[in-house]
Amino acid sequence: MQPYNVNENGFYGEYGGAYIPEILYASVENLKNNYRKVLDDPQFQQEYHALLRDYVGRPSPLYLAQRLSNRYNCRIYLKREDLNHTGAHKINNTIGQILLARRMGKTRIIAETGAGQHGVATATVCALMNMPCVVYMGATDVSRQHLNVKRMRMLGAEVIPVTSGNRTLKDATNEAIRDWCSHPSDTYYIIGSTVGPHPYPDMVARLQSVISEEIRWQLQEKESRETPDYLIACVGGGSNAAGTIFHFLDEPSVRIVLTEAAGKGVDSGQSAATIHLGRLGIIHGSKTLLMQSDDGQIEEPYSISAGLDYPGIGPLHAHLAKTGRSEVWAITDDEAMNAAFELTQLEGIIPAIESAHALGVLKKKIFRPEDVVVICLSGRGDKDMETYSKIENSTKKI
Ligand SMILES: *Cc1c(COP(=O)(O)O)cnc(C)c1O
Repeated sequence: MQPYNVNENGFYGEYGGAYIPEILYASVENLKNNYRKVLDDPQFQQEYHALLRDYVGRPSPLYLAQRLSNRYNCRIYLKREDLNHTGAHKINNTIGQILLARRMGKTRIIAETGAGQHGVATATVCALMNMPCVVYMGATDVSRQHLNVKRMRMLGAEVIPVTSGNRTLKDATNEAIRDWCSHPSDTYYIIGSTVGPHPYPDMVARLQSVISEEIRWQLQEKESRETPDYLIACVGGGSNAAGTIFHFLDEPSVRIVLTEAAGKGVDSGQSAATIHLGRLGIIHGSKTLLMQSDDGQIEEPYSISAGLDYPGIGPLHAHLAKTGRSEVWAITDDEAMNAAFELTQLEGIIPAIESAHALGVLKKKIFRPEDVVVICLSGRGDKDMETYSKIENSTKKI
């Protein structure tokens, strides 16, 4: 029994479960009873890994960032998920889930998206597999992230702007669940992070665990040891972080450092630091930490990064934080932006603003020169150029 694994009812400690409407019970039960069998099936593994290699471009490099290492006086490796097809780690998950959907005989795919990155990764694999794709996106996000909407439409997806609530990710997710309730037999819902009802958090973590599987043999090649001293990743819903730590969870010598978005500051009222601010509640089928008002209304999160502003958090991460297996830092907009400019100037790599929140923790820690630190660079910054160029010091040497 591994202490950090999900139990048969979908719980990590007190977090997780599957709180779903009656009408979805059969679909979720079917998924729950079959996902491990399918994922472990050699033929599935063969198809999944062939696509990861030839379509996504895996293995992603583990790059020793020499100038960044010199600045922080340790050995910093970047796990280059930014080099994947479509620009982030999200495609690892959508490739796996669409193969699963096909095996389960589903003929229609739906997804939710916030910034549009998961929507693009889903629309991409639907084009590849010739399956119809409907993506729900909050109307506010549709106008904020217009380029990703164009990409999804070019890829053949139908993008439906959601006008309920605050018109952002939470509302898009509600709408996707509503669609699933109306088409439970033919439709498969591809969730984009380690969130939602069991078995999604565990399934998405397993599909992203290719990241830590590769880190182990890449470190063996480069450092003659499989385990680092530190693993660092940003957390929105928690999928790139889950993938980065999956094969290291039961090794206490590996310290896990996660970062969430503090926005303008944890106590500013404009934040997305769910682990710092959240209280137990239920969101999108899962019992987890949730940003909510005193009377239980979900509070709208804020972050400069569109991919980190989810009011909940994957139940695995709530559990890891609660048990002390992970340490969680809240990184502000300003700290993340400075970290992004620093990486760009030292290494010639423009990170996604989400990933810059992981880099932002380097200034908070003191490392020993022999420490091996692996940071998940979850995505590339092309999509964020508009935001970066609005910041005054974007071209100033820091
Ligand atoms: C979506 C996204 C994230 C946040 O999602 P997780 O599920 O927490 O990984 C982080 N980085 C990038 C580049 C993203 O696109």
